[in-house]
Parts: sequence; structure tokens; C-alpha cells
Amino acid sequence: MSEPIVIAIDGTSASGKSTNAKIVAKQLGYVYVDTGAMYRTLAWYCLQKHVDIDDANAVAAACRKWKTDLTCVDNQVRLVIDGYFPATEIRTAETSAAVPKVAAVPKVRTWMKRKQRECVQFGNLVMEGRDIGTNVFPETEFKFYLDATLSERSRRRDADGVRENLADRDRQDSQRAAAPLMIPLGAKVINNSSMTSEETSALIMAEIEKRRQIPR
Ligand code: C5P
Repeated sequence: MSEPIVIAIDGTSASGKSTNAKIVAKQLGYVYVDTGAMYRTLAWYCLQKHVDIDDANAVAAACRKWKTDLTCVDNQVRLVIDGYFPATEIRTAETSAAVPKVAAVPKVRTWMKRKQRECVQFGNLVMEGRDIGTNVFPETEFKFYLDATLSERSRRRDADGVRENLADRDRQDSQRAAAPLMIPLGAKVINNSSMTSEETSALIMAEIEKRRQIPR
């Protein structure tokens, strides 16, 4: 059997990664993986358990010990903790502000990378995050980097009813030492500030098709 295909979609916060990754996964019949949700789940877990998120050793210990399962529901991967998937809890402003600290811990990133690579057990993937093309699946030839102006991204978050400091989160994600947010080598960069999700996803699909034609 041939190796599963991974489409890696990285980019800044609120750059349309989730919306477009879901559209592309649906069109290709691939499994969608939201790696941000995995980091959010750990941040939420630490807050719940009163783990000091500024203490990297304490966060790493919590990550080593928590009881998780990877499941696939409706072609979407879920990281389930103690049998529970905290779908709404991980989207609060409190969790959003905590997650870059948790995500900067090297041992957490090693754990997450292993789990994220295990997702190929579910089939071909469209995986979105910050380090998928650079660190989790650097071998894939299908790499995308989405971005948009800060004002447009803030407008999108406001429309979702979420108030948060996107610039601060991007700064923390880009400046951390372990697997920082950056444009993967060979990625197709798409600034979609003035594009609809239909236009962005169509561009991604066309690029996937183009790269598939390149003989290897
Ligand atoms: O994509 P989302 O906004 O849900 O990601 C939440 C946070 O999780 C990011 O701001 C980042 O700190 C972390 N993250 C990461 N690496 C990934 C995905 C998310 O560090 N691959």
C-alpha cells in the first residue's frame, strides 16, 4: 500500500486555516486534523488541574501523565482526554491566551509531534497548524502557508464573537525556540486578505493538482 498523503496548512492566527482545511479535506475525501485543538486541549487541561502554565517542567509533567486517545469522528481527528472532548471549552479567551505558553514547551512539542504523526492511521490527511510543513511532516510536498493582514484577521475573529490579542499570540508563536511559526521551505504562500474561502480553497486545490503532476 502507498504512503498516506499529508496536506500541510500552516499560518497565522485567524488566517483561514480551519475553514479552508475543512473544505479541502471534504473535497479530497481526506481526514481533517486541527493540531491547534490538541494544544488548546492541553492548555485547558492545565488550567483545569491548576498546573502553573509558566512552569515548563510542570506543563511537561502534565503532558506526560494525561490519559488521551486519538479518535476519528466524521473524518475529523479528536484528541480525547479522559474520554472527553472539550470542544467548546478550548475556544475561550482564557484558553487562547494560555495556549502559546504550553505550546512553547519543547517536551510538549515532541509529544504532540508523535501524536500528530500517528494520525496517518486514519488515512490521508489535511493537517493544519503552525509547524506541520516545517516540523511534523517536513517530507510532504503539499505545503501551504496562509496569512492575511492583522486588521482583516481581527475583523474575522470579532465576527466569530471572540475578542483576543492576535498580534500577541502570533508574536509568541513566531518567537519561541521550539518549532516556531514560519513559512515552510517550498510552501505555497497565500495572502487571502481580500479573498473568500471559496477562492482560497480553490487556489489550494489547484496547487495540489499541479504538484501531483510533478514526476517524483
Ligand atoms: O490554530 P489555533 O489558533 O487553534 O492554535 C492555537 C495555538 O496552538 C497557537 O496559537 C499556537 O500557540 C499553538 N499551536 C502550535 N502548533 C501547532 C498548532 C497550534 O504551537 N501546530
